[in-house]
Amino acid sequence: MKIAILSRGPKLYSTRRLVEAAEERGHEVRVIDALRCYMNINSVNPEIHYKGEILDGFDAVIPRIGASITFYGTAVLRQFEMMNVFPLNESVAISRSRDKLRSLQLLSRKGVGLPVTGFAHSPDDIDDLLKTVGGAPVVIKLLEGTQGVGVVLAETKSAASSVIQAFNGLKANILVQEFIKEAGGADIRCFVVGGKVIAAMKRQGKEGEFRSNLHQGGSASLIKITAAERATAVNAAKIMGLNVCGVDILRSNHGPVVMEVNSSPGLEGIEKATAKNIAGMVIEFIEKNATKGVNRTRTK
Ligand code: ADP
Ligand code: GLU
Repeated sequence: MKIAILSRGPKLYSTRRLVEAAEERGHEVRVIDALRCYMNINSVNPEIHYKGEILDGFDAVIPRIGASITFYGTAVLRQFEMMNVFPLNESVAISRSRDKLRSLQLLSRKGVGLPVTGFAHSPDDIDDLLKTVGGAPVVIKLLEGTQGVGVVLAETKSAASSVIQAFNGLKANILVQEFIKEAGGADIRCFVVGGKVIAAMKRQGKEGEFRSNLHQGGSASLIKITAAERATAVNAAKIMGLNVCGVDILRSNHGPVVMEVNSSPGLEGIEKATAKNIAGMVIEFIEKNATKGVNRTRTK
């Protein structure tokens, strides 16, 4: 097969591993920077141009679109879809998952366990907002944050009010969540491929840190997940419509709760923690599915 990887960083661990795994399995693979693609929107013969040439003949495309280029990156992916190239994850599903509120609303509608969550823009009744999520301690998040930046633990009602007021000043959208203390600063990343959890790791925040993000100094280790956690991850992936994703779960005293579903999950932490060839499994999924020409995305 001829496989395109939409990635801005050919040297990034995840991109390199996908190239390696595809080549090992006998495929032709090319890393393409979505921002360098320009397109011809045409109902007969949609094209993608790249550095002066026309991209043609691809069987599958692996989107590794960073959060900062979601808009243009998904447009390029959509163009591949219009050319009937099999997308590992569809553009619509990626856009959906990048919107935290939309994701939480979709997941809650289908009964997936979530932390009790409130959202607001510039609430004038902060006390009532806090009451809706059960009162302090609460976790307050900037909707636009990633990698743990803009996630604050407010232990008391007055701390929570001050933080919300400060965010109000920034005119930001915020989430206010019950603090899942019993998670002990750890979360579980379930790596889902084709409706199965193929690997899982536990990420533990450094001493005194409630955020488990590796970017915040957390460390990863192997973990055995429960049947309920497995079912939650599989269900979340299905609801989001993602073939491949990382589902982040906290162990709460009301069962597994989903924090986030990541449509471009990194491979480094999970391959190192589990010693599994995750990249190989992703390519194998493409081999089994791309040939069927499955591509539900028609519009939008
Ligand atoms: P980001 O998308 O920036 O990584 P998250 O919402 O995933 O932000 O939060 C970062 C980390 O903070 C999570 O991985 C988790 O360890 C911790 N965390 C987030 N929300 C809660 C919560 N409601 N209760 C306990 N810990 C939380
Ligand atoms: N690679 C990061 C992770 O798996 C985030 C990638 C993204 O922004 O989609 O946590």
